[in-house]
Amino acid sequence: MKRAVDLVVRGGKVVSPHGIVAAGLAVQDGVIVAVAENEALPDARETIDAAGRYVIPGVVDPHVHFRSPGFEYKEDWASGTAAAALGGVTTVLEMPNSDPPTSTLEGLRVKQAVAARDAHVDYGLYGMLGQGNLGDLPDLARHGVIGLKCFMGNNPIGHCDDGALLEGFEIAAELGLRVAVHAENATIIERRSARLRDAGRRDPLAHLESRPSVCAVDAVGRVIAFAEAAGSRVHITHESCQDTLPLIRSGKARGVEVTAETCPHYLILTAEDMKARGPILRVNPPIREAGHADGLWAGLVDGTIDMLATDHAPHTAAEKMADNIWESWSGFGGLETALPVMLTEVHRGRITLPQYVTWACLAPARAWGLYPRKGVLQVGADADIVILDLDHEDTIRGERFRSKSKLTPFEGMSIRGRPLWTIVRGRVVVRDGALEGRPGWGRMVTRDAR
Ligand SMILES: [Zn+2]
Repeated sequence: MKRAVDLVVRGGKVVSPHGIVAAGLAVQDGVIVAVAENEALPDARETIDAAGRYVIPGVVDPHVHFRSPGFEYKEDWASGTAAAALGGVTTVLEMPNSDPPTSTLEGLRVKQAVAARDAHVDYGLYGMLGQGNLGDLPDLARHGVIGLKCFMGNNPIGHCDDGALLEGFEIAAELGLRVAVHAENATIIERRSARLRDAGRRDPLAHLESRPSVCAVDAVGRVIAFAEAAGSRVHITHESCQDTLPLIRSGKARGVEVTAETCPHYLILTAEDMKARGPILRVNPPIREAGHADGLWAGLVDGTIDMLATDHAPHTAAEKMADNIWESWSGFGGLETALPVMLTEVHRGRITLPQYVTWACLAPARAWGLYPRKGVLQVGADADIVILDLDHEDTIRGERFRSKSKLTPFEGMSIRGRPLWTIVRGRVVVRDGALEGRPGWGRMVTRDAR
């Protein structure tokens, strides 16, 4: 008689980047100890029947903003990670633009304390790479930041001019940290915005006109050139613009360690939606004209874009819903919609589940040094497991979100497919669609930690 393990998931179809196999999973002490035919699984203290369901690795979302410390009225770590768990996300990488920002060791410690107390899922923390804190980067690296984030002058917190950017990349290369960059040209945006405002424009499309494609093309080109010169690993966040893809492709071909992400809203929505629905769709970089989405899908399929992220960036309704587009805060939540939206594309036949798992699980885990602990279902990996219900048909309604922000650009959209169970290191955090985890279960993850 085999010794009973903690948990068995039996009867499911296990998805990997290479394909789908009928198999069960056995879990002991938070780690997968067997991927085997169902008859070969050991006895377990808890057995989950996944008969007929697809089983994927927990999603690793490399780009979320949980607003705490400092802006808890928008989101906090308990609400944000609950939203993550309900969205099938078992590891989040969280951005440093909180208050205090995660730009010093002290700032990192404040955020670590909040996250350790409140998180339902595992998390990595970005450190800020800004004009004023290059001297703090070694401390941040030593204390376990997952990577660095910088804004190219387009955010009041943590902005970076070209000189600081190159120097920051050089330091990051020495420290072995990947730098995630918000790549838009800030001075073009400033001048265009001023001109449009002066002309009396306040309509939603003025936002797009203030950030033309050249802003992204120029900035992505500079990031890749600087990374090549510095020998650093970089990551282009929230790619919205198909015109940047040749730059990323040629950088990769030359051996530059550049990865890129895009988000469901850039793949599914267009400027026409912005025109019709207004400020809820305001986000930086902007949702662009029809045609860009097709290019981004092609970029995912051919590997130019490596991964998916949500850029979960919640705001209150009062901050968001302004008549004047310039007064609407940029960003919106995405953790509770990303997986259903993408599963709907699987249902439509645009992508396959193995492709989805490559982009949403494996690629981010690899890029941030978490693979093979995260991002795959194999013996020795953390038991971060999501069981899908691919037949569930529903309509997206923000009022049902666990996130503090009930606003979504996908409001009213018909979806098919959802995460049903979310398991984090062997513990059931979402059971049959309902949150049952307790804050504090989530743990901080660090690069290559094993
Ligand atoms: Zn962001």
